[in-house]
Amino acid sequence: MSVVGFDFGNESCIVAVARQRGIDVVLNDESKRETPAIVCFGEKQRFIGTAGAASTMMNPKNAISQIKRLIGRKFSDPELQSDLKSLPFAVTEGPDGFPLIHARYLGELRTFTPIQVLGMLFSDLKGIAEKNLNAAVVDCCIGIPVYFTDIQRRAVLDAAMIAGLHPLRLLHETTATALAYGIYKTDLPENDQLNVAFVDLGHSSMQVCIAGFKKGQLKILGHSYDRNLGGRDFDEVLFRHFAAKFKEEYKIDVYQNARACLRLRAACEKLKKVLSANPEAPLNIECLMEEKDVRGFIKREEFEQISAPILERVKVPLAKALADAGLAVENVHMVEVVGGASRIPAVVKIMTEFFGKELRRTMNATECVAKGCALQCA
Ligand code: ATP
Repeated sequence: MSVVGFDFGNESCIVAVARQRGIDVVLNDESKRETPAIVCFGEKQRFIGTAGAASTMMNPKNAISQIKRLIGRKFSDPELQSDLKSLPFAVTEGPDGFPLIHARYLGELRTFTPIQVLGMLFSDLKGIAEKNLNAAVVDCCIGIPVYFTDIQRRAVLDAAMIAGLHPLRLLHETTATALAYGIYKTDLPENDQLNVAFVDLGHSSMQVCIAGFKKGQLKILGHSYDRNLGGRDFDEVLFRHFAAKFKEEYKIDVYQNARACLRLRAACEKLKKVLSANPEAPLNIECLMEEKDVRGFIKREEFEQISAPILERVKVPLAKALADAGLAVENVHMVEVVGGASRIPAVVKIMTEFFGKELRRTMNATECVAKGCALQCA
């Protein structure tokens, strides 16, 4: 039986399988390596993954996303309450104090727990692995953030069980990254220790891990995180900026319309990526609301100014990880960055200045967690 590694992200998920000739990331039915972490409930059926993402715009209130943020958290958790403000679907408090997601499915209003929705996602990912391997998949290793609490870990295990999976291990995402890094490195020293900092700035969180490598040996020296710092914070800054601008210039209030909010957020995410490669970028959306086409524009400089409060927070987990590892910054020999949001030039600048060395991107940033997970149990 094959062992499979799952990376379930806040935005997208990746499946890797360990085969005799190495670790492969497998494709989903749409021939994509990444599967969006979305379940969209419809009138006749539910759509999961790529199909779920495609249905989101047409059916925003029944498209359940960001499940990694909801899993294993109490409804009263202030972080969850703050996340709920930007989610288009309804969530209330269940009898056990955990959130209940409301969606219209098969013509009826239904409620689902985050564990059930994650179970659906896992079952889709299991199907992807099974189709590729042509065999049943049960044993697996799942990547989780280092900051997950016991309740969150148990919730992930419950969701895996619903999907008919048997996780041999839950592996910290940063450890999985370090494992995937070490396995292909042929020039590790025999005696001296090579200290590598792995910095992962993802969609909603930041994780830092410092690992010591010797030939055939990996030691996690220290780690730290910010549970609430990621690419989506930059999207939100742009979203608020343009929502205010459009209110003034076009007299439309996007906050009053779930689909307009989703479309503006999606456009802001694209804009943010364009700004990583260009000094300025336009934002044009046809028929955003009340049949009005909107046009906007921002320079990278202005984006960095309005994001200053978020940028200030990037250094904190870096310093904490160093302190946790008991290392001075000169003793970190290399810095490997993963996570999509680490492409933002202002973030790169802060990290480069902090470590006093150029950042490396040796890893396939998107796939290293899934590969490390598959490797762990291979
Ligand atoms: P998490 O790590 O929070 O679980 P994830 O693993 O799904 O989420 P990643 O895929 O590592 O997250 O990163 C996604 C984030 O990176 C998104 O916010 C995306 O907008 C951002 N991103 C991707 N490419 C770029 C780019 N070129 N410039 C700026 N941001 C980018």
